[in-house]
Amino acid sequence: MNEAGEAEHSGHHAGHPGRLALPAVRALSPYAPGKPIAELQRELGITDIIKLASNENPYGPAPATLAAMHAALEQVWLYPDGSCHELKAALASHLGVAAECLTIGNGSNDLLMLLAEAFLTGGLSAVYSQYGFAIYPLVIRETGARAIEVPALARASDMPLGHDLTAMAAAIRHDTRLVFIANPNNPTGTWASSAALERLLETVPPSTLVVLDTAYFEYGRERGIEDAQPWLAEHPNLVLLRTFSKAYGLAGARVGYALSHPEVADVLNRLRPAFNVNAIAQAGAIAALQDSAHMQRAVEATMREQARVTAAIRQMGLWSAPSAANFVLVQVGAHAAQIFRALLERGIIVRPTGGYGLPECLRISIGLPAHNDRLLAALAELTKQPALPQPAPPAAAAGAR
Ligand code: PMP
Repeated sequence: MNEAGEAEHSGHHAGHPGRLALPAVRALSPYAPGKPIAELQRELGITDIIKLASNENPYGPAPATLAAMHAALEQVWLYPDGSCHELKAALASHLGVAAECLTIGNGSNDLLMLLAEAFLTGGLSAVYSQYGFAIYPLVIRETGARAIEVPALARASDMPLGHDLTAMAAAIRHDTRLVFIANPNNPTGTWASSAALERLLETVPPSTLVVLDTAYFEYGRERGIEDAQPWLAEHPNLVLLRTFSKAYGLAGARVGYALSHPEVADVLNRLRPAFNVNAIAQAGAIAALQDSAHMQRAVEATMREQARVTAAIRQMGLWSAPSAANFVLVQVGAHAAQIFRALLERGIIVRPTGGYGLPECLRISIGLPAHNDRLLAALAELTKQPALPQPAPPAAAAGAR
């Protein structure tokens, strides 16, 4: 570079180190997670807060799982087993698969990133659905690849706002390396039939991997959604994702896994940071697998509550999407942002879905029965009020007198 170019170059970046980042990264909007309880406590100075915002399992892990994690803490000065050997062995025997088919991630979010990094770059593309899980476009765009969003099924269809698998298959191009499907999907709760998924798998070319994200698998199973694992044998381009964050109640520990053809697992394992899953999380996941009955009881209780909450919401005259997961997407109307705020003031954190292009909706996770009662009472009160309180003026304006 000549002197002038160098000067211009360094001038452009002086005092702006962020500008040195890759354009694809600078263009990203960060993922907006559910508001943590402690944050609301700090903001409003209230206590007795319930969080129905991140599809967590309020029953938590079994006592034996917690005991295993406490025991692992004693050895925290040692690095974890970077290969997750014991956890893989436990999963392999639990699922009846070879350990070579497994990749363990720091939550399944980690695996979504690894898949994008391994299979995408500028000049390639990936397909996902409108209203699909927000992390998909994020991990696609971060690589410089093209994110192809396929319109969701219409409100008037059998599965309103669900993935249109026929259109998704048709959107695949010669440069498409990944298709992301969430089943059930977050934030809609919608799902696809086994027949539709099998049709898609039959039509997808071998140059495209199908990432079937089944984070809510255990809840969906309660509603009759079939296990996709048997399809792995016939479809070497299928990657199945599961997590310990939801039904197993270990969201804070961060463990998820991918089931795939051994060659895909090999690729992901090359890319995976050496110690991506910590020792306490590994111990928790191994113990959790040994107590599936605890998990199953929590799932059954949650899905009973999900049916009750959905019925009550519909009785209020509100529309909600069909859900096979531990949350419901509810259309509360044009005042959704005010209702969200008013719920926060009552100590109830739910999730706004404006970022998904659903500004009239809120996503509500299913909590313990008493939490759900509190949510339903507040929602009934807030949605029947003809004139809702206006949102508080911004702090700067209030203080500028
Ligand atoms: N996939 C879907 C569909 C999800 O809803 C979530 C969590 N919100 C994840 C993946 C990631 O979960 P985790 O990283 O905790 O496994």
